[in-house]
Amino acid sequence: MATLGNPQETIAVLQRYGFNIQKKYGQNFLIDTHVLDKIIDAADIGPEDFVLEIGPGIGTMTQYLAESAREVVAVEIDRHLIPILEDTLSAYKNVTIINDDILKVDISKLVEERNEGRPVKVVANLPYYITTPIIMGLFESNVPLSSITIMVQKEVAQRMQTGPGSKDYGALSLAVQYYAEPCLIANVPPNCFIPRPTVGSAVIRLTRHEKNPVEVKDPIFMFQLIRASFNQRRKTLQNGLHNSSELQISKEKVVEALEQMGLPATVRGEKLDLVQFAQLADLLSETMNIEY
Ligand code: SAM
Repeated sequence: MATLGNPQETIAVLQRYGFNIQKKYGQNFLIDTHVLDKIIDAADIGPEDFVLEIGPGIGTMTQYLAESAREVVAVEIDRHLIPILEDTLSAYKNVTIINDDILKVDISKLVEERNEGRPVKVVANLPYYITTPIIMGLFESNVPLSSITIMVQKEVAQRMQTGPGSKDYGALSLAVQYYAEPCLIANVPPNCFIPRPTVGSAVIRLTRHEKNPVEVKDPIFMFQLIRASFNQRRKTLQNGLHNSSELQISKEKVVEALEQMGLPATVRGEKLDLVQFAQLADLLSETMNIEY
């Protein structure tokens, strides 16, 4: 039976161990059982599932996950939380705690060893200071994934879901949507955590596409174009791409490609959707004679 997830128990555990909350690790512990139920429901965890949890904290969500999944591996950076986790999770035989930085763990190897390379479900109340590197690392390292259900800063959830025309649209929106289908599950106010974060939060589920929604010859080149376009948001696409140190593209080549796509020479990157970025990448790599 999950015992954590309420303010009294969380405070009691933290006090029993004399634990000092580390701001630098983005530690905000969940204290709301309704939110925990919503996360578990959205992640759709069943008895066959292997779950990777990032940042278990004192083990609140881990208890819920362990009750639904076949196996849970939780990676926690803060070594002072390890004795607490050993205590709060002692009743669960299907949980392994790894004391490490998630950005340094070879997740593909872990999944190969523990789940025979079959897709895993990632569930986490993420440390907000490294949300983007964690998500991009999971997608770009080709870890077999079925979904990622995560608590993130509200604005970040917004950026992941939005399309051209919104001020929140950017490289993260395009990257997430290239790899997955985002679905907002719930907005979560600061009073659902100890200590209260200074920002609003949201739970979002990213369901990995079985097949990428656009065909592009060189996705890495497409993402270089996307990053260059949004690095200089106020500039036209031809200037943004020309000025990028990562790329060597003349303004003329960009204008030529845009013309072929029926777009004005003065268009800004923020107007293009994923299909158009894929088209642009293919046209530019053709004129630049990149061979595949
Ligand atoms: N899951 C717990 C909960 O919901 O109450 C804690 C969530 S708290 C927002 C984020 C957790 O991630 C903390 O326990 C923190 O120590 C851990 N963390 C921070 N950076 C990490 C990293 N690079 N690798 C693994 N864990 C990390």
